[in-house]
Amino acid sequence: MTAPKTSDGYAWDRQAGVRPGLESDAVVTPPRSVRTATKVYDAIVVGAGYAGLAAARDLAKLNHTVLLLEARDRIGGRTYTVKKDGFLYEMGGTWVTHHMGYLFREMTRYGMDRDLITTGSPNMERGYYTINVAGTEPRKLSHEEAGAMSAKAWDLFVNVDGQHGRTLCPLPHAQLDNVVVDRATVEKWDQVSCHERFQQIKHKLTAEEQGLLVSLLLHISGGHMETSSLWDMIRSHALLMHSSDNFGDVWLRYKLRDGQTELARRIFADAVDSGLEYAFSTQVASVAQDRQTDQPSTVRTVAGEAFRARKVVCTVPLNVLKDVAFEPALSARRREAITIGHINQMSKIHADVRNPELERWNGMRFPGQLMYGYGDGVLPNGDVHLVAFGADQRGSFVPEKEPLKAVDALQKLHPMDVKSLTFHNWCTDPFSQGGPAWWRPGYMSKYQDELQSRHGNVFFASADWAHGWRASIDGALEQGALSALAIDTELKATKRKAARGRL
Ligand SMILES: Cc1cc2nc3c(=O)[nH]c(=O)nc-3n(C[C@H](O)[C@H](O)[C@H](O)COP(=O)(O)OP(=O)(O)OC[C@H]3O[C@@H](n4cnc5c(N)ncnc54)[C@H](O)[C@@H]3O)c2cc1C
Repeated sequence: MTAPKTSDGYAWDRQAGVRPGLESDAVVTPPRSVRTATKVYDAIVVGAGYAGLAAARDLAKLNHTVLLLEARDRIGGRTYTVKKDGFLYEMGGTWVTHHMGYLFREMTRYGMDRDLITTGSPNMERGYYTINVAGTEPRKLSHEEAGAMSAKAWDLFVNVDGQHGRTLCPLPHAQLDNVVVDRATVEKWDQVSCHERFQQIKHKLTAEEQGLLVSLLLHISGGHMETSSLWDMIRSHALLMHSSDNFGDVWLRYKLRDGQTELARRIFADAVDSGLEYAFSTQVASVAQDRQTDQPSTVRTVAGEAFRARKVVCTVPLNVLKDVAFEPALSARRREAITIGHINQMSKIHADVRNPELERWNGMRFPGQLMYGYGDGVLPNGDVHLVAFGADQRGSFVPEKEPLKAVDALQKLHPMDVKSLTFHNWCTDPFSQGGPAWWRPGYMSKYQDELQSRHGNVFFASADWAHGWRASIDGALEQGALSALAIDTELKATKRKAARGRL
């Protein structure tokens, strides 16, 4: 069965060239269910990514009246699944793990916790890895050997305290002001860039290991060595329970068998069953509140509609927030944080290739417009599915404009016969303007608290400033859940007060 078509994403093959739009069950039809625009909602949620879906669902289930407004024609935001010829392609957020508590809660709630598949193919160890670092001879090696080289380099890089970060970031969900480390120590380490740290340790690594490490760091941050913060890597290592042994299992191994969009659909359906109203293809332009009188806030759309609510949850991504006007103005510090934004300008490209030998292949090339490629399953027609990643190449790599550059970048990773590409350019997308949020040196200690704080009746919820799993699905769900909890408490207190007043 074919899925409806979202206007998001691109497909390419040699015959038809680039076509915008992909098939995905994330598309919502009919796109609008607004019963009356004149009433005052308890809450308006802006954005239907995981943060917005979780907030809307929780509030609706707690008997509040909720309106969800989303600029796209679909749910899921930076996480959605495309269906092509019976095969599922994750365009953004992909990998899941029981180490992510908010995510695991949703998976169990909707009965999807056991329905997992693994990345790659069975018997991956029978395949091979290719390493191609400038200045060294490209070569084949085993997955095990490549994993050991990466782990050695990563461990050296993140082990800044001789305790794998345990003394600096013992509690990655409470990085600042925790029971073990004082804030000044964290602030000091937060100033260091990946580039500076790399200069300290690179003499202990071979040229190949150096290339592996730098490409891995950029694969993670989606930025540049100078703009990527060392602290974000220390935090990531802490989330891996301070051990690179967990790297693959936590970050790159398990996927939802039925796709991320299926989980998002179940959350959305639950919310709709509980009374949620919604409007898709509805971009919000401004949020205005009168803080003197505590009157409802007014949310205006680009198309000129106005909706009113007692509370607003804004899940607009960090790099997009500058495009929404707030009245009264946001704090100077939050505006500064928004202007700087995050650094992740990664690419993720799916390729269907006619090379059976690539089924169990992984490989890297550094430097390269695409730096990593992973064999990830066999299509129903026998072709092999690959997924490839690159860091910030915005100036020179725009696959929807120059798809052959993407084909060339793939063929530089490994010779291959590319039949088609499926991708979403998160960097040119006006509603993401980048990938998941990785931060600059100094950004966490200066802006995290402010980004997480409320602005009057507006609550900001996004994976981009989550407590622990920032830049992840879990972080989005965490933020949605926390904003709903805070709003529910306040709305109930207000309702109780009003009821007492009537007595
Ligand atoms: C390529 C890629 C790979 C990833 N891989 C993983 C992974 O393997 N595992 C993992 O856990 N995470 C991964 N992530 C991260 C994860 O996908 C995100 O952190 C998460 O989906 C963000 O959710 P969110 O709700 O905070 O933001 P979003 O999903 O971005 O939702 C925000 C919503 O707001 C909407 N919006 C924006 N502006 C407006 C406006 N003005 N009016 C109305 N709506 C608006 C957007 O359209 C969007 O739908 C990946 C992300 C990308 C891009």
